[in-house]
Amino acid sequence: MGADLKEISKVKKIYPMKVTKHYLNLIKEKDDPIWKQCVPSIEEIHDNNQADPLMEERDTTVPCIVHRYPDRVLLFVSSKCAMYCRFCTRKRKVGRIKETSLDQIKRGIDYIREHEEIRDVLLSGGDPLMRTDNELEFILKELWEIPHVEIIRIGTRIPVVLPSRITKRLANMMKKYHPIFMNIHFEHPSEIDADCEKALKILADAGIPLGSQSVVLKGVNDDPAVMKELVQKLVKNRVRPYYLYMCDPSKGVEHFRTPVKTSLEIIEGIRGWTSGLCVPHLVIDSPGGGGKVPILPHYVRESDDEKIVLVNYEGKEYTYYNP
Ligand SMILES: *Cc1c(COP(=O)(O)O)cnc(C)c1O
Ligand code: SF4
Repeated sequence: MGADLKEISKVKKIYPMKVTKHYLNLIKEKDDPIWKQCVPSIEEIHDNNQADPLMEERDTTVPCIVHRYPDRVLLFVSSKCAMYCRFCTRKRKVGRIKETSLDQIKRGIDYIREHEEIRDVLLSGGDPLMRTDNELEFILKELWEIPHVEIIRIGTRIPVVLPSRITKRLANMMKKYHPIFMNIHFEHPSEIDADCEKALKILADAGIPLGSQSVVLKGVNDDPAVMKELVQKLVKNRVRPYYLYMCDPSKGVEHFRTPVKTSLEIIEGIRGWTSGLCVPHLVIDSPGGGGKVPILPHYVRESDDEKIVLVNYEGKEYTYYNP
C-alpha cells in the first residue's frame, strides 16, 4: 500500500509494531484514520516530550498499582496489547517491558486487600484481556473476594482490535464476578464493524455495562461529524460514551495532538444535536499528575446572585432567575 518500510523499521526498533489482521483489514487507503493508528510514523522519534507526563510512576507504590484517587486504583495486569497504538500514552513501557508476572499481580492484589478505602479496581495495562481466561479468572476471583472491593472495571481495546477474543466462554466466566464494568477504547466509527458488534453484544448480553473512551487525534477523529457518528454507533451497540481525552503530551505522540478548541467543538457538535446518552465527558489528564479534570464549552454566559444567563446548543441565550 506504499508504506515506507525503511522508516517503519527505524521506528519499530524503539516503539514496537504489532497490528492484528482484523484491524489491518479495516484500512481502506494509505494514511486513513485506521492506518494512522497502527502504522509507525517517523515523527514518533522526533519529539522532545516527557516519557511520563502524568507522573504515574510517582503514584506507584507497588509496581502494578497506581493509587492517585481516594477510593480507587489502577491495577496493571499485562504489559502487552493485541495491537500497539501509535498514540499510546504509556508508550514508554507498553510492549517494551517484559510481561507482568503473576507474582507482581499478587503483590498488587495484596496492596488492595490491605487498603480498605479501595472500593473500585480498574484493571489496566497494556490490555488485561491479553491474559488467558484462567489467569483473568484468578485475578477477578481474588479481587471479588475482598469485602471492600465493590466494583471491578476492565479497560481494554480487544473488542476493537481482536474481537474474536471475546467469546461466550469469556463472558460467562466474567459474569460470575459482577459487578464488572468494561471500558472500551474506540477512536473511529469504521472500527465498529460486524465482528466488533458481535463482540459487544456478547459482553452486553452478559450484563456487563459497557463504556467507551477515546482520545482526540489529529487526522483520525478531530472532527465533530466523525465523533458524532462514532458516539451514535456506540450507543446503538449498548456502549455508553464515557471519556473523551485530550491527547497527553507523552514522548512519541506529539504529531497526534490537537488544540483544546477542537475538542470543545466536538462536544458542541454532539450536545443537544443528538441524544444526551451520546455525550462523553471531555477531560484533560493533568500533566504533573493531578488527575482528570473535566472541561466544558461555555454554556454559561454570566452568573451572579440574581440569575444565570445560559447559552443553548444553537447559541441562543436564556435566563434563569434564582429564588
Ligand atoms: C482514570 C483513572 C482512574 C479512574 O477514574 P474515573 O474518573 O473514576 O473513571 C483511576 N486512577 C487513575 C490513576 C486514573 O488515571
Ligand atoms: S490498546 Fe491501549 S494500552 Fe495498548 S497500545 Fe493501544 S492505547 Fe496503548
